Amino acid sequence: MNIEYPLSISSLNTYIQCSVKWKYQYVDKYPMLTGSSALIGKAFHKAIEENYKQKIISKKDLSISEMINIYNNAFCSEIDKTLWQEDEDIIEISESGVRALKLYHSQISPIVYPSESEKEFLVDFGSLKLQGHIDLIDQDGWLIETKTASRKPKELYSNYKRQITAYALAINIYKYRFDFSIISRINRPEIMQFKGVVKDIDKWDFKNEFLHVTDNIQKEIYEPNRKSQLCSDKWCCYYERCHSDYKI
Ligand code: SF4
Repeated sequence: MNIEYPLSISSLNTYIQCSVKWKYQYVDKYPMLTGSSALIGKAFHKAIEENYKQKIISKKDLSISEMINIYNNAFCSEIDKTLWQEDEDIIEISESGVRALKLYHSQISPIVYPSESEKEFLVDFGSLKLQGHIDLIDQDGWLIETKTASRKPKELYSNYKRQITAYALAINIYKYRFDFSIISRINRPEIMQFKGVVKDIDKWDFKNEFLHVTDNIQKEIYEPNRKSQLCSDKWCCYYERCHSDYKI
């Protein structure tokens, strides 16, 4: 199979997590449904993205009610495209994201001074390319990424490290900070931060991994990864199809 289009980080991460999932999504183009955690993440991201885009000019944050409006609109527009569990309460889930947004707006937004938001990039590996956009670069030259999570991460996950390394390859900025807004459905939300630098060895590893994945895609190597933590009917919308197609 020829890869005639640039891969995205998300596509790369999906292949690394499970190549069959990648095939279903990008070759067979079966509709992709994600769960409520991803829905909160997207709506949250939309609210802070709109805030920082205008803050580059205005130097001021939007009000929390303006950000909640953006969050709510984004949340509602994706409800039908979400894989809901039987015991999930849509309103409670939406409100848990609003609580995290309020915390973010009071503690993180005021100390972030953006210089660029949603900057597009293309990394050229010869015949193969990687494309994407960088959420935020601040005035001190830090790459800033924000994610929502339902649990406290003990360390920065490898898919996020990969994302940052791709950014560093693309624009030669290497200082990064991750802000995790931890969405707790019961307790108060929290924020955790991870800071670091991208080293040359990270870039080397990324390039090798990218070339390995694209080589496998060109050879059409697809194997179900049942050991993945995301291999369950809760996290993979292809669960039934996959168990019918692959009897292992
Ligand atoms: S069910 Fe598991 S093995 Fe199958 S596509 Fe999903 S993640 Fe991959």
